Amino acid sequence: MEERRAAASGAPTGDQPGRAGALGAALSLTAVPIPLLLVDGAGTIVFTNPSLDELFGYDSGVLEGCPVEVLIPPDVAGSHRELRDAYAEVPYERTMGANRDVRGITRQGEEISVEIALKPVEIDGVAHVLGSVIDIGVLRAEQEKTRLAIDASASAMIMFDAEGVVVLANRQALVTFGYTDDGLIGRPLDDLLPERYRRRHGVFRAGYMTEPTQRSMGGARELYGLRSDGSEFPLEIGLTPIDDQGKTLIMATIIDITQRKASEDEIRRQNADLVRLNDELGQFAYSASHDLKAPLVTLDGLLACLHDDLATGDIANAADLTARAQELTQRLSSLIEGVLGFARTEHADDTTCAVRVGEFVDTLRADLDAELSANDVRFEQHIDPSLSVVVDPHRLRQVVENLISNGIKYCDRRRDDRFVAVRASAADGLVDLVVRDNGIGIPADAHPQVFTMFRRFANHDEPGTGLGLAMVKRAVDQLGGSICFESTTEGTTFVVRLPHESMEPAP
Ligand code: ADP
Repeated sequence: MEERRAAASGAPTGDQPGRAGALGAALSLTAVPIPLLLVDGAGTIVFTNPSLDELFGYDSGVLEGCPVEVLIPPDVAGSHRELRDAYAEVPYERTMGANRDVRGITRQGEEISVEIALKPVEIDGVAHVLGSVIDIGVLRAEQEKTRLAIDASASAMIMFDAEGVVVLANRQALVTFGYTDDGLIGRPLDDLLPERYRRRHGVFRAGYMTEPTQRSMGGARELYGLRSDGSEFPLEIGLTPIDDQGKTLIMATIIDITQRKASEDEIRRQNADLVRLNDELGQFAYSASHDLKAPLVTLDGLLACLHDDLATGDIANAADLTARAQELTQRLSSLIEGVLGFARTEHADDTTCAVRVGEFVDTLRADLDAELSANDVRFEQHIDPSLSVVVDPHRLRQVVENLISNGIKYCDRRRDDRFVAVRASAADGLVDLVVRDNGIGIPADAHPQVFTMFRRFANHDEPGTGLGLAMVKRAVDQLGGSICFESTTEGTTFVVRLPHESMEPAP
């Protein structure tokens, strides 16, 4: 043992090298600040330098003669023996621990993270292995701190290489993209993008890698990420190139902007509502000044005449004027009713439920029965009894009732076969509600104004305010649907298209 120690440490042996050479050898092993150990083919430590003794907490020379496994934690010492045997058969120079957690154990039982380089050496014709050990505990601790900091970030962070392969992903990235544990490492970035972006992204990445700079993406353009379950979400990305020992890696910071976009959409929607309401208010003020004021002016004139007739004692004329004044006040009253009804469409409380369309139209028909028979109009209904639609039933009633009622009111009295027909059908996530009549029709030049408040186009003997269709249009908008119509002298057809959500109606 002493001889081998002397040989390993460079101390003089029987076959003495020159003094300078021996000193050099001694210095090279004992004085180097890198912990070193020499192990023989049986795995016995034959030499340790002071740096190694210090690292593992042993007094000088104590380790010599011990199996190398005393420096290895018990849970891996067994497998180390097998690895050592395999290594002894084909020894080669190698570094261990570069990408793996290699642990050592000190005399005090404390585990330390190390990196080990092995080099086969021959001493007196006998194979030995010289190991150099680096304590990377501090480095690992620093790495751990960095990992914890990255993991603690509220933004998703993904690092990828020049080939677009993920090399690091923090906890938030796993949450954002719906992966568990190491599910993102080693994946191509393309897996995180919807199919339609992949080709363009490949070109973009190749271009970016030629001159990588810190930059953000997604400001003006909308970008989307793909979760592991196939769903998409809008995102914003910041890119930062990182130099990793001559290799460029890119750290992408990803922010899921679903919430922000939803709030922006909501603000946009509210703005559009405000603009629409403002327009309607302007239109209302204009119409009110004409349509509500006109009967008042007439009423004022009638009352002046009435006053004169009463003064002259023309009672017959006074009675006639009173009757006309009464008609006017009734008309004003129904106009005001109409305006209030219109205002109510804005403030309905949007409670939706599943409504069976057939049953719903049955009820309306019963309510309109008197009107139907008074006008001798036949009612037809073609609706699959199982068809249901999720809506606010009050708004739906405003729509269908007004359309049917108009079909009855504006029937063509020259016809014998007067009818109003209601159909409903569902296709492609939409429900079409069609109300058709063979009435007098709406004059072609009036079509652009059909949904404008207070507009009436024919047959002004019929009671009405010109608010019905404006109300219908507004209710359809609020139901998230659309309305269109066709009208000729042969009749009128309104088509209301509503989103079709499936939900079973309450029994
Ligand atoms: P109102 O019926 O109170 O006049 P609406 O807004 O419901 O108000 O209708 C506006 C106008 O459109 C009606 O006055 C009428 O001239 C025309 N109109 C509406 N529906 C029909 C229809 N089915 N057939 C013919 N004309 C119609």
